[in-house]
Amino acid sequence: MTLCRGILLIITSRIHPLQRTSTLALRQRKAHLLHSFELSPHLLHASLVERFLQCGKANCRCHTGGPKHGPFFYLNRSFAKGEFQSLLLKSPDQIRQARQGVAAYAELLEVLDEVCQINYELLRRGEPSEAPDV
Ligand SMILES: [Zn+2]
Repeated sequence: MTLCRGILLIITSRIHPLQRTSTLALRQRKAHLLHSFELSPHLLHASLVERFLQCGKANCRCHTGGPKHGPFFYLNRSFAKGEFQSLLLKSPDQIRQARQGVAAYAELLEVLDEVCQINYELLRRGEPSEAPDV
C-alpha cells in the first residue's frame, strides 16, 4: 500500500507545476524576474563554515574532552582540479559581509534557475523564449 502511494507520488511529481501555468503567466513571471533583479554587489561564491577547534597547548581542556575553542568562521571556496581556498574571518564585520555575499549568491542562483525553468517550459511548448513584440 505504502509502495503504491510512493509510486503514485513519483508519477504525479513528474508533472512540473510550470506545465499548468499559462504561457502568458510564464512570460510575465520571467519579465518580472529579469527586470526586477539586480545583481548584488556583495556576491560571493563560497561556503561559510563554523568550526570549533583544538588549540596547540597540550595541557588545555580542549584536549581532554573539554569544550573546544570557537566558533571560528571560515569562508571556503572550491575550484576546479580540487583546489581549495579558505579564509579565516577575524571580525564580526567580515562574518556579516561573508554571510551577505553567500546569501546574495544563493538568491542569484534561485532567480537564474527559475528563469531557466520557464525557458525550458517555453521550449517544450514550442514557444520562443522571448515574446514577439506586440
Ligand atoms: Zn585549547
